[in-house]
Amino acid sequence: EYTYGTDYHYDRDADGIVTVTLDMAGQSANTMNTRYIPMMEEILTRLQAEEGLAGVVITSAKKTFFAGGDLNGLRDIDSAGPESLAMFEANKAPFRVMEKLQVPFVAAINGAALGGGYEICLACNHRIVVDDPAAIVGLPEVTLGILPGAGGVVRLTKLLGLEKALPYLLEGKPAKPQKALKEGMVDEIVASREDLVPAAKTWIKANPETWQQPWDRKDFHYPGGDALHPRIRQTAMGAPAILYKKTRGLMPAPAKILDIAVNSMRMGVEAALRMESRGICALAVTPEAKAAINTFFFGTQAIKSGSIRPEGPAWAPRTSAILGAGMMGSGIAWAHAQAGLPAVLKDMELATAEKGKSYSAGLADKLIGRGRMTEQQKAELLARITPSTDDADFAGTDIIIEAVFEDIDLKEKVIGATFGQLSEDGIYGSNTSTLPISVLAEFCPDPTRFIGLHFFSPVDKMKVVEIIMGEKTSQDTLRKAYDYVRRIGYMPIVVNDSRGFFTSRVFSTYLDEGMALMRDGMSPVAIERAAWLTGMPVGPLAVHDETSLVLSQKIRKTHEALDKRLGVENGLPIDMEASNAVVDAMLDQGRGGRRYGGGFYDYAADGTKSLWPGLAQFAHGNGGITLDDAKDRLLYRQAIETLRCLHEGVLNTEVEANLGGIFAIGFPAHTGGAIQFIRGIGIDTFAARAAELAERYGDRFAIPEGALDRLRGAEAKA
Ligand code: NAD
Repeated sequence: EYTYGTDYHYDRDADGIVTVTLDMAGQSANTMNTRYIPMMEEILTRLQAEEGLAGVVITSAKKTFFAGGDLNGLRDIDSAGPESLAMFEANKAPFRVMEKLQVPFVAAINGAALGGGYEICLACNHRIVVDDPAAIVGLPEVTLGILPGAGGVVRLTKLLGLEKALPYLLEGKPAKPQKALKEGMVDEIVASREDLVPAAKTWIKANPETWQQPWDRKDFHYPGGDALHPRIRQTAMGAPAILYKKTRGLMPAPAKILDIAVNSMRMGVEAALRMESRGICALAVTPEAKAAINTFFFGTQAIKSGSIRPEGPAWAPRTSAILGAGMMGSGIAWAHAQAGLPAVLKDMELATAEKGKSYSAGLADKLIGRGRMTEQQKAELLARITPSTDDADFAGTDIIIEAVFEDIDLKEKVIGATFGQLSEDGIYGSNTSTLPISVLAEFCPDPTRFIGLHFFSPVDKMKVVEIIMGEKTSQDTLRKAYDYVRRIGYMPIVVNDSRGFFTSRVFSTYLDEGMALMRDGMSPVAIERAAWLTGMPVGPLAVHDETSLVLSQKIRKTHEALDKRLGVENGLPIDMEASNAVVDAMLDQGRGGRRYGGGFYDYAADGTKSLWPGLAQFAHGNGGITLDDAKDRLLYRQAIETLRCLHEGVLNTEVEANLGGIFAIGFPAHTGGAIQFIRGIGIDTFAARAAELAERYGDRFAIPEGALDRLRGAEAKA
């Protein structure tokens, strides 16, 4: 018989206290993998057989306490039937055995205890955490489209009461030690790891009889009020409406968690735990859970682990230069400085460069205001930014990022003049959003070292960079660019050169479809509402106002000029007909966007906005377009463009398509990204619906021949 003793250490001391130190073999963290249940059963069997057992301490030999559920297993579940239910029940069964064993259990939390890890702690009678900001506790399952199914919903509600438990269950945010103590999620904090087990033993000796959970006592009352307490009833009634406002009804997990938390209050522990198991069983097979697990967990992991990075040694720039201290350059300077990378920030006038630096001072002050930064840290951060007007200030720098005006002649001049300042193995990036990287690369003596580094506005919030490969960019430069982007804590998405790259192409289709709906007679308010219902963060009209109609027209002119320069016709590969017509008409009437005093919306001095009545010239009513069609037009347009990018080789991987779309453009997160959205609907169903939209509304919804083959192939392999 195989013994699992290799996955944990088991030590009984002279006082009869057993310390179980989880240390799963062959992995850096403890997880609920396939050996987990037999391991727990073995531990509990040994504990039950102990004579004179005084108490149990559970801790871990890893850096973290316990990493939680096995997402590989979860990803593979394709049925909500009895086998899945039995699996979830088996997973949580050991915790109930612990609660019934008549000795105190203490969790000695030496590092992060999330999800299943914190559920172990919840089944203990006392929780002690080390005072280390990395030792966070919480139940992030909701962010993966599921629920804490090993007792987390039921026990946290009992431990904290409904009102305090809900935010942690519905938002999945973890708590650091001090906060966790304040909230009652842990009971005690010790200064160092070494203090944990002694403190646990001290507690056991002082509380030898405290083995029964409060919720198993006859006199148990929920903190903050029982199920029928008027305030709790009010919370239970009001919460679904608050939740709907946040999730727009697009995410089944929070709704289910709320339902289970509320209903568990009127049930016995065992029945409540079983209801919770049925809940996770149902959620695990939803497209939203598959989307979250595939995209946010495995996708992010794939990118961070370097699957899109060419092989080669790690690279870390020691110095940097940013050309142009405008909106983007100032933001990039902040990104560098907050990551500890010194930056020379160059502009035409020193005053402009100084102003670019003061943008970082402003961001730092906001963080200080929120208690997230000290004056000392601010001073250090600002000392890393050197405003300048002189190229000599960045002689020998490792990375230059050009962020001057979007003007090809200016860029030619600037790139030519500054490339020579690079260190021998340094790389040159451009933040252009419209100009082809292969064209800009020709302005420097070594196009192999030139690459697109496309940041998004506002840079401090949009933590993604679209890396664009020019025709001649080397793999060596890509590797360095990837390492640079990770070095400053951003997510790299690698694409190949194409007009509008990937993100601007897809984003433009969203703007254009909003305009097309208006052209077809749908009222602006209905368009914005349809977008909201799909889960897009901002409606196409509101977001167009933000990026500005002036910019849209400028970009079109840039593309027209480029066409002329390159001798091509219609080089931008997307149909912007609807948008162009509306933009021209709006600009004729002085409606340039928010920064220009108003666009699709009027902006009041008090910060509120309302749709411009003048839009009636374009549309009113619904133009005979159903809400379903409007919603699908907005999403399918983007999904088809993403598919096209993948098909044309502008995008290399589905993972980058999904994550890039969500983080850079705001494609609805609950779908898991545009390609996962197609998979969630089903490839054939998606194709049929696109064909229907194409017939009804035009060829822009036609899926290019063969574009879905790649998805079908990958599905067949999986
Ligand atoms: P901006 O107009 O705010 O700033 C441009 C800055 O460049 C100005 O401060 C200007 O004085 C400076 N400049 C001009 N010539 C210079 C020179 N020879 N040397 C040094 N500095 C010079 O523009 P922005 O919005 O920051 O955009 C900059 C670049 O980033 C453009 O290529 C744009 O396409 C791209 N971009 C913009 C956004 C966006 O949302 N605004 C997003 C991604 C990329």
